[in-house]
Amino acid sequence: MLFNGALAMAESYYAATANPWVDQPPLAGDIAADLVIVGGGCTGLSAALHGARRGLRVVVLEGGKVGWGASGRNGGQIIPGLRQGATELVRTLGPERAKGLLDLAFEARDLVTGLIREHSIACDLKTTGHLTGAAKAADLRGMEDEAECLTTVMNYPHIDLLSAAQAREAVDVPYFGGLHDRRGGHLHPLNYTLGLAAAALDAGVTIHERSEAVRLDTGKDVRVFTARGSVQAAHAVLAGDALLEGLAPKVNRRIMPVANYLAATAPLADPRALIPKDAAVSDSRFVVNYYRLSADGRLIFGGGERYTPQPPRDIAAFARRHMEAVFPQVRGVPIDHAWGGLVSITQTRLPHVGRDGAVLFAHGYSGLGVILSTLAGKLLVEAILGETARFERFASLEPPPFPGGTALRGPLHVLGMLWYALRDRL
Ligand SMILES: Cc1cc2nc3c(=O)[nH]c(=O)nc-3n(C[C@H](O)[C@H](O)[C@H](O)COP(=O)(O)OP(=O)(O)OC[C@H]3O[C@@H](n4cnc5c(N)ncnc54)[C@H](O)[C@@H]3O)c2cc1C
Repeated sequence: MLFNGALAMAESYYAATANPWVDQPPLAGDIAADLVIVGGGCTGLSAALHGARRGLRVVVLEGGKVGWGASGRNGGQIIPGLRQGATELVRTLGPERAKGLLDLAFEARDLVTGLIREHSIACDLKTTGHLTGAAKAADLRGMEDEAECLTTVMNYPHIDLLSAAQAREAVDVPYFGGLHDRRGGHLHPLNYTLGLAAAALDAGVTIHERSEAVRLDTGKDVRVFTARGSVQAAHAVLAGDALLEGLAPKVNRRIMPVANYLAATAPLADPRALIPKDAAVSDSRFVVNYYRLSADGRLIFGGGERYTPQPPRDIAAFARRHMEAVFPQVRGVPIDHAWGGLVSITQTRLPHVGRDGAVLFAHGYSGLGVILSTLAGKLLVEAILGETARFERFASLEPPPFPGGTALRGPLHVLGMLWYALRDRL
């Protein structure tokens, strides 16, 4: 469990600019609820909020602090859809199933912006769009197909295919063109997560921080144990994502944690010179570079691959190398914050959502979980209440386990990633 590892020591820009939060007490003693949730990120907190709204007594157990995982340290990019593109989904699932799945994924964007409005969550929300920049000419041809499929098959009219010159108006990087989704954008992920937690508390949810779930017993009821107590409930939701580790090995072997690192520069004199339209941007490389501006005019940049579980000794230097390769304009600009987190990926790059009796789970958003996690939490509650149709659209897509189980999945996956990373350079 990584509650105190090296990743925890690097203070993120988000932690440094977090809204006030009252620490919640650890679990002490044995209690009962209708629903116990392991994990205080957006999946768990959304399930908690939606569960409480539907009349369930909900307890959340968070091993670290609310937002300690990916939800509080990610790139903050709102990217509608799934990691598998529409054309690929149509090829593998057929147009009808692909549309059913994408319609649901697209719903995540309005769910999140709606919650932000409803609960007045101060999280620097920008609905300025998301641009995928074509790093190679061949990538632009793929984007033409994707735009066509999104517009005609998916009936999704929010996409613009950009020429190299149009992409350059959006971001000062020489892409071959790009795909712009007008419904994308960005936010301060930790403040969004804290806002979701505050909304859950208001709805009657109990949250225990510093309460790592160490054992899960399933029988007629579910009981989740921490070092100092337990919660008995009719249902459990596992929302630990990449940090869940040994609590549920059967569930866990279908995801793979991959470390990723971000940096925030000092405020720039002219941030809009880099990203004039203030969109969230990522590129089409397999090892994605992704970046955006913060509300106070910093460049927040993530990218670069690293195939060892150990964080680089100097995260800022690691991130700077990749940042300056994309933006030579910021060479030498001070980096005020650098941090890392674990992204959980699946072999299909589609989320792993499902249930094993009374235990439900959702994870493996494969780098696209800022808004999907909130949607998934809601779908889990629907399933608990017997409304399974929407949940099944995701649950029917169970990704295969990583070969080699949890011990070997790392080394084998590294080999695969190295191959794809090499392809980026060809
Ligand atoms: C560096 C980075 C950048 C990213 N950038 C983007 C982006 O720009 N756009 C995008 O869409 N997605 C992005 N993602 C992915 C996105 O952040 C995640 O998919 C999403 O936050 C997952 O939310 P979650 O609630 O499922 O998991 P998490 O936020 O990781 O929450 C899980 C929580 O469970 C707790 N936990 C785990 N095990 C236990 C246990 N046994 N007992 C108690 N608590 C436990 C953890 O402490 C943690 O707080 C990024 C991820 C990372 C790491």
